[in-house]
Amino acid sequence: MVADKAVDSANKKQENMDVLTSTRAVVKLALEKLGYPDELYELLKEPLRMMAVRIPVRMDDGAIKVFTGYRAQHNDAVGPTKGGIRFHPDVTADEIKALSIWMSLKSGIVDLPYGGAKGGIVCDPRQMSFRELEGLSRGYVRAVSQIVGPTKDIPAPDVFTNSQIMAWMMDEYSRMDEYNSPGFITGKPIVLGGSHGRETATAKGVTIVLKEAAKKKGLDVKGARVIVQGFGNAGSYLSKFLHDEGAKVVGISDAYGALYDPDGLDIDYLLDRRDSFGTVTKLFNNTISNKELLECDCDIIVPAAVENQITEENAPKIKASIIVEAANGPTTRGATKILTERGILLVPDVLASAGGVTVSYFEWVQNNQGYYWSEKEIDEKLHEIMIRSFNSIYNLAESRRVDMRLAAYMIGVRKMAEASRFRGWV
Ligand code: NAD
Repeated sequence: MVADKAVDSANKKQENMDVLTSTRAVVKLALEKLGYPDELYELLKEPLRMMAVRIPVRMDDGAIKVFTGYRAQHNDAVGPTKGGIRFHPDVTADEIKALSIWMSLKSGIVDLPYGGAKGGIVCDPRQMSFRELEGLSRGYVRAVSQIVGPTKDIPAPDVFTNSQIMAWMMDEYSRMDEYNSPGFITGKPIVLGGSHGRETATAKGVTIVLKEAAKKKGLDVKGARVIVQGFGNAGSYLSKFLHDEGAKVVGISDAYGALYDPDGLDIDYLLDRRDSFGTVTKLFNNTISNKELLECDCDIIVPAAVENQITEENAPKIKASIIVEAANGPTTRGATKILTERGILLVPDVLASAGGVTVSYFEWVQNNQGYYWSEKEIDEKLHEIMIRSFNSIYNLAESRRVDMRLAAYMIGVRKMAEASRFRGWV
């Protein structure tokens, strides 16, 4: 059992390294396609700053445990950096670096005045008490306080962090700075300056680009058969929105298995029964594996779980004509090539999941101006940004005859590259 865990952890580290390597490869290609010199790649292949910290926390049994944390700030030429903080046992420095690059790309794609950042702490929050989590969250803010702040680097939630953790972090920062500072962090509870629509923003953004992709393929979303892998924040709300649009959600999954029914699943029932970690399939006997699910008959697949799910092995067997990546990094580079050659329209993660950072930006703007918008206003603004971003990437992919991932990276790096040049950095 212990040996299995060590192997899993080694595999995870290898995957994180692969994700960083493949992210860099596409950034390099995008810069070459845009005609930028090699110096720009040298600048953008690594975060400008990477801080590693050690955080001592007194645990409930009285012992002190020291946790490792990171904050990577990829590039702040455009403006302050922005990106979530994840609490997970598999967090590595390479993963945090790759995620900070993705955040820069996402901000560039949806045209926000930010660069990318990411943070993480190696821990398992599922095994920690509320009090221990509060100590860890406050300790992390004290440890990175010199490099973060509302005009420097604005954190947000990510895997296994939530609005309560954001509230503790905002409170710690406000106490240190001796003034109330809601703009320090986004994803807060509404009563502390959080934004309407933040919780469902990623799923709403995915729904908007999925509908645009369907139009391009001449597919009616009403009646379209959709498989959603992952039933957490992104996957569960997305299943609900698609169900409400008249799509037939024929498959869903979580970490323990998958459900598939060609006649459509009862999404309201599943939503009602899932737990806070996005687990629902344990309640059923007739489950299949995640691997089998991705090869089932359908029109659209939305991976909304973890990295490296569509690989060179299963890409030739996929039956969908559209794949929309809600998860970060679900498709390998080799698989992207196979899917593109097969004429499958792949809407990449850096575009499809950018709804979350977009509404985080709205939250920061509202905090800075002290004036708050309704959910309707948020939805309208998000809708306009996602449609515009989808179409500029789709059109670039068509005109330059490249896949949508490369087109998204080209748009994502352009503003950052130009800002770095105007500043005289390269
Ligand atoms: P979550 O933790 O709420 O849910 C994750 C879901 O994936 C759960 O249902 C879990 O059971 C399932 N899962 C975990 N391991 C799995 C495995 N090996 N195989 C199949 N399913 C597995 O996470 P989330 O916030 O919904 O994020 C999902 C993905 O979307 C991640 O890649 C995340 O980075 C990305 N994303 C999320 C947001 C957001 O705002 N939530 C924004 C941008 C990107």
